[in-house]
Order: sequence, then C-alpha cells, then structure tokens
Amino acid sequence: IGEPSDQWYDYQGAPTGTDIECEGWRQEAALRMLNNNLDPEVGEDPEDLVVYGGTGRAARSWDAYDAIMSELRDLGDDETLLIQSGKPVGRFTTRERAPRVLIANSNLVGNWDTWEHFHELEAEGKIMYGQMTAGSWAYIGTQGIIQGTYETLAELARQEYDGDLEGRIVVTGGLGGMGGAQPLAVTMNHGVCIAAEVDEARIDRRIETGYCQEKVADLGEAIERAEAAAERGERYSVGVPVNTADMLEAMLDRDFVPDVITDQTSSHDELEGYYPSGYTVAEADALRESAPETYREVSIDTMERHVDAILEHQQRGATAFEYGNNLRGQVKEHCDRDDAFDFPGFVPAYVRPLFCRGKGPFRWAALSGNPDDIHRTDEAIRELFPEKDALLRWIDLAQEQIQFQGLPSRVCWLGYETDDDGLTERARFALRINRLVAEGEIDAPVVVTRDHLDAGSVASPNRETEAMKDGTDAVADWPILNALLNCAAGADIVSVHDGGGVGIGNSLHTNNHVVLDGTDRAAETAKRVYTTDPGMGVVRHADAGYDDAIDEAEQSDVAVPMRDR
Ligand code: NAD
Repeated sequence: IGEPSDQWYDYQGAPTGTDIECEGWRQEAALRMLNNNLDPEVGEDPEDLVVYGGTGRAARSWDAYDAIMSELRDLGDDETLLIQSGKPVGRFTTRERAPRVLIANSNLVGNWDTWEHFHELEAEGKIMYGQMTAGSWAYIGTQGIIQGTYETLAELARQEYDGDLEGRIVVTGGLGGMGGAQPLAVTMNHGVCIAAEVDEARIDRRIETGYCQEKVADLGEAIERAEAAAERGERYSVGVPVNTADMLEAMLDRDFVPDVITDQTSSHDELEGYYPSGYTVAEADALRESAPETYREVSIDTMERHVDAILEHQQRGATAFEYGNNLRGQVKEHCDRDDAFDFPGFVPAYVRPLFCRGKGPFRWAALSGNPDDIHRTDEAIRELFPEKDALLRWIDLAQEQIQFQGLPSRVCWLGYETDDDGLTERARFALRINRLVAEGEIDAPVVVTRDHLDAGSVASPNRETEAMKDGTDAVADWPILNALLNCAAGADIVSVHDGGGVGIGNSLHTNNHVVLDGTDRAAETAKRVYTTDPGMGVVRHADAGYDDAIDEAEQSDVAVPMRDR
C-alpha cells in the first residue's frame, strides 16, 4: 500500500470549519468523512489505511488515497465519482440530484467469493477489504457501535433479567474498534464486564477513552474484582491481557461461570483478524508473515477450543450468543462442527423485532467539527420524540459518557413509523437537522449515514439474516435493491460491499450518506432517502412473513404487493 501520504500527515483527521476545499458540501463531506476514518483518534491503524474490523480499509493504497482526494477536490456538482475497492476508477457527468460518489468494495462473483481468492487479488493490489463503514467512509469510532451493543444487551436483560444487568457478569473477548464498545455498553446497563484482549495497547486505548475502567493482568484477581462489584450491584469493567479461548477454559477450571458470554474478536478472518493461543502478539504477527498456512491452522484450532468453551459455559448455565464475528461459521466450516451453532446469533435473539419496524443505527457527524452542533441535534431528538423514554435515556447516557473521536457525531436507532404527515422517524429528524443548518443554529452542514448492519440493507446468513422465517437467509437481492433504490432516491454517496462483519463470501451489504446543507434540495433528498432506506427493512421482513413488519407496513402505509402473513 506504500508509505503514508504527506497530505494525510498534514490533515491528521478530517478538516473542520466552514471553509471548503471542494466545489460543494457534498464532495467536501466525502473528503472529510474519508479523512475522519483515517484520523489517528478514530481508525485503529491509519498508517496502514486500516480503520477497524481486522483489515477494513478506507482506501486501497496511499496512491489511491491521494488520487481520491484530488478527484473529490475537482468533482463538479453534476458529476459522479466511481470508487472500486478503494481506488478511483472513473468519473462521469450525471446530474445534480444523482449521487456524487458510488462505491463498490470487495465484491467477487459467487464461485470465486472466498478469502483465498480475495487474498490473492489483494496481494496483487487489485481489491480491498472494505469491511462495512471503513471502505464506505462512515466510521465514527467506537461510538458507532455502542448504541447497538447497549440496545442488544438491554433486550437481553429484558428477556432474561427484568430489564437490567445489575449484579450480572458479562464475559467477552476483543477490545478492538467495535468490540471496544462492549465494556461501556455493559456498564451503561448497570452490569459488570470481563473482556479478554491479547493486545495490551488496545486495552489501554479503551481505558484512555473511557470505554473500559481498568486493566488487570491476573485473571483470578479480575474475577474477584468482578464478583465483588456484582455483589455490591456496582458497574465495573476490566480488560485482561489474555487469549479469549485460554481465559474461558481457565474460568471453567475455576468453576466460574458468568451470567452472559459473547465475543468480538475478529474471528471472521482466521489469518489477519484472530490471534491463536500459545503465541504473543509479536510471535503471532511474525508467524503470519513466515508461515501463513500454519497460522491459519493454529488460529482455527484456537477458535474450535473457543467455541467448545462457550458451549460448556452455556451447558453450565451461562446465556451465550455470538456477536456477529462468524466464530460459529468458521468452526462449522473448517472443523465440520454443526454443534457450533448450538448458541444463537444476536440478530435473531435480540435485534430482528427492531429490523421489522425499519429500526437501525442511524448516525450523523458535524462537519464543522464543533461539538455544540451535536449537542444541538441531541436537543432536537428531545424536542421531536418526547414520548420515547428509551431513546431519551440513550441520549442522556451518550452525552454523559461518550467522548467524541474525530468529527463530533452521534448514533441512535430510529425507524420507519410515520407521523400524521406521513414522515418517517428518520425523515422527521433529518429534516429538523436540515432546518437547524439553514437557520444557522448549527455551524456547518451535517452528514447523515448509518451502519451497513441495518434493517433492509444486508444479506448475511450467519448474522443479520440468520434463521429468517422463510428460509431466505442467503438471498442477496435485498441489499442490491436497497442500494439501487437509494440511488434512485438521490442519496449523496451509495456503497455496496461484500464480506463485512463475517468475512468474504458471507455477506453483501450497502450504505448511503445524505449531506444536510440546509438547502431545499437536501430536504427533498432526506425526505426521500429516509423513507426508502428504512422502508426496505419493512418490505424485506414483511415479505419474509414477520407479523411485526406487516403491522408496520399497514400502520405506516408502506406498499407491499402480494403481502402474506
Ligand atoms: P478489530 O480487528 O478492531 O478488533 C479485534 C480485536 O480482537 C483486536 O484488538 C485483537 O487483538 C483481538 N483478538 C483477536 N483474537 C483474539 C483472541 N483470540 N483473544 C483475545 N483477543 C483477540 O475488530 P472490531 O472492529 O472490534 O470487530 C470485531 C469483530 O466483531 C469482527 O469480526 C467484526 O466483523 C465483528 N463486528 C460485529 C459487529 C456487530 O454489530 N455485532 C459490528 C462490527 C463488527
């Protein structure tokens, strides 16, 4: 990928303020979001162009980064730039209301859609792993995932423990870009978290940014502190520098069984994401270079032990679920173990009812760089949705406990549900922000985007579409329709990726951005896109026969031809 570009060193994050380098705010938003992904405070390893999620990159090489920057600076208000796996490959005159940037990352044709073929092409510099929000320039740091993690654990607490994790111990692994949200999401739910992480620097980073409370090297001591805090009903989180599989086995040896067990190590990628047991990080990194096949074997061996330990904890009474890293899929595929799926994934267990209502992780960033702009949008949420207690509680917690990384931003789950004027929750909120920009209450435009993990934007049989009611887990027409529809609705950036979350060949998913610059054009785009985008969630789940989605379609007047209960 070459040496980091001089202009990246100069930027060290997104440019801020009200002066722009590009022809318009939509191009400027793309430029700022790309650089925000690569802000050393935001991305996990920006010098290597890695944003999060194993090797999820924002650009294919440093030359490609420089070229994207020049293209964006030069891009007209009626032009569309094409990005293919992190490299600019074409530019066409389209029209003012068309997207300014279209992105396709990591996509391969069915029979070739494997890590092996992907890695061959990657080594030749012909493709890039875009993860989800890395290659689509929508990553906002660990905050991006925190509300999803908080909501998932809150739903688990509602189902298992009267709505609260007080006095409960959650054990997990992986404190990376996304996984780092886990300790804070647990303590926000009043619980206690023990997290294994092989890379001490990652634990330190989560402590510095307030996501984790402390690091304890000795597992016995960590368990004692966790148990004492749980007994007193206190919130507590601790990172333990150890391999997760080793930690779970050691817990079994000590007869310690947590209340909840999950995992967010990057097990979707056995070579570049997951660390095998028996090696330090440095030794494993060296092995990956010198003997990648051996690395793969020992990595998969550790994953099998990891799954076995989770299953044993489940047997002994823990509530176990997979948190979207394909740990079960890897063990099933490589070790021929169907029982790897004896514990559920988080979507069917806790998130699907939200998807049926078009709810998903809506997020927005203040292009001004001014935190007050986000605080003003927090106020707008309170003004618009005074009856939504859980949402308001989230906004209070986020204001209190989440430090901004890079461009100030916020995430919150909003859905379809229309008001008397037929405006969806997402559209109402986006229109309000656009008005605040127009009236000068917010310093500069706000860019609205989301995770690819959304109601109608992803096909991922081991995660978002696991165990669909009608067996359509692997049907990938839905995300493609989602991307096409959001282009038709005029979103400013639209992207389609393969392999996010669960690895190459295991998922297809899309994203979009709308830049709210206070204009009537932005208002019209927001109204359309924030109807079509969550609407796809309702349509997809209604088609699969979910009653909640059919109810939402009826209540909110979504046209679903041939709908059947
Ligand atoms: P990341 O690569 O930034 O972090 C993974 C961390 O796991 C690293 O810090 C690494 O050192 C650590 N690790 C790897 N193997 C380990 C082991 N055996 N024991 C202990 N620590 C180990 O990735 P991320 O962005 O945090 O994502 C983590 C996983 O979760 C990925 O598979 C990703 O696809 C998935 N994910 C899930 C969701 C979701 O909503 N559930 C969202 C995003 C990502």
